[in-house]
Amino acid sequence: MANFQQKLEKYADLALKKGVNLQKGQGLIISAPIEAQHLVHIITAKAYGRGAKDVHVEWADDLLSYMKLKHAPMDVIENFPKWKADGMEEMVKDGYSFLSIYGPDPDLMKDVDGSRMAAKNKASAEALKTYRDYVMNYKVTWNIIAYPQASWAKKIYPGLSEEKAKEKLWDQIFMITRVDQEDPIEAWNVHNERLRQAREYLNEKNYRKLHYKAPGTDLTIDLPEGHVWQGGSKKSEAGVEFNPNIPTEEVFTLPHKNGVNGTVTSTKPLNYGGSLIENFQLTFENGQIVHFTAETGEDTLKHLLETDDGAKRLGEVALVPHESPISQSGHIFFNTLYDENASCHLAIGKAYPSTLKDGIGMSEDVRKERGANDSLIHVDFMMGSEDLDIQGEKDDGTTEPVFIDGSWALEF
Ligand code: ZN
Ligand code: ZN
Repeated sequence: MANFQQKLEKYADLALKKGVNLQKGQGLIISAPIEAQHLVHIITAKAYGRGAKDVHVEWADDLLSYMKLKHAPMDVIENFPKWKADGMEEMVKDGYSFLSIYGPDPDLMKDVDGSRMAAKNKASAEALKTYRDYVMNYKVTWNIIAYPQASWAKKIYPGLSEEKAKEKLWDQIFMITRVDQEDPIEAWNVHNERLRQAREYLNEKNYRKLHYKAPGTDLTIDLPEGHVWQGGSKKSEAGVEFNPNIPTEEVFTLPHKNGVNGTVTSTKPLNYGGSLIENFQLTFENGQIVHFTAETGEDTLKHLLETDDGAKRLGEVALVPHESPISQSGHIFFNTLYDENASCHLAIGKAYPSTLKDGIGMSEDVRKERGANDSLIHVDFMMGSEDLDIQGEKDDGTTEPVFIDGSWALEF
């Protein structure tokens, strides 16, 4: 059995080979918390070993971010540094890949005012628009992996010491990302193939509408003409195959921005920029959220939905069977990368251009006409459970089950 150091090495290999799929001569940007220094050193050494021309690391210190957000004057919060946006833009235009390592304390920002949080997120989204266009249109390869910071691990395992909690979370991460398997790279080839089959099956079905039913949820979602189901690995503009998220268990497409009706109830907490929104309900009319409530974090949710017009509409509908390894772990991770892959989910905000036929390279206006939502934000929230049933409506108006009791009803 592999020891911890060997598993870390495998995790690093996975991020570089199946994640960003770094090519010879390419640059790599890593953003990571300072706690992850050891892992970043391993990845950096391996990246140069693969022929990277440059590895640039953006260190994040969550406590410093918290202090700035808490105490700096509003004009600082509202102004994302231009030099930083320019730098990111420069590197992305030079074809750098982006590896984001993250695992924040889910409670760190809980006493930060919702309007300050929203202002900060809006400022960075506006400043980084070009960068985000590159990322969302897969002009460059990118990947997100998790790192178990002690504060995050303690949130999941409050009864354990910091050290034990981290150890336990590492074990979960290695299991869920298939790093504990003999050959993780091969395991990911098999997994990507399975997701490819699921997405191709749904693309063939070409449902025009999905109807969700679960306790607290009765929602219909129109899928626009030309919608494309995605899942597993993607191809960058240059034809390089990569996995944006590790783990990933979802297949997803876009809803019609004006075609969502009914009510949906969340089934897991949403960690938005360090604030938790829990037990919330959204009611839609013709695509727009017309009513919302939340047991915790209602103020944060309110500011999130007020970001812009598109923040009140959906940009993603994703299917994840309840028996996914993350779901089977039985944990709530308080971390979207993990929780979204345990559960069927939706995202408010911008739709991925790739989920519309020929959507990449299409102008924003044409995409909107075709039903794609646009926004500065894209925030996934979880609404799947073992009680969720989904019916698919075909072109001829007949319906058939897509999900029963939280899992695939289809054979593929
Ligand atoms: Zn998703
Ligand atoms: Zn998403």
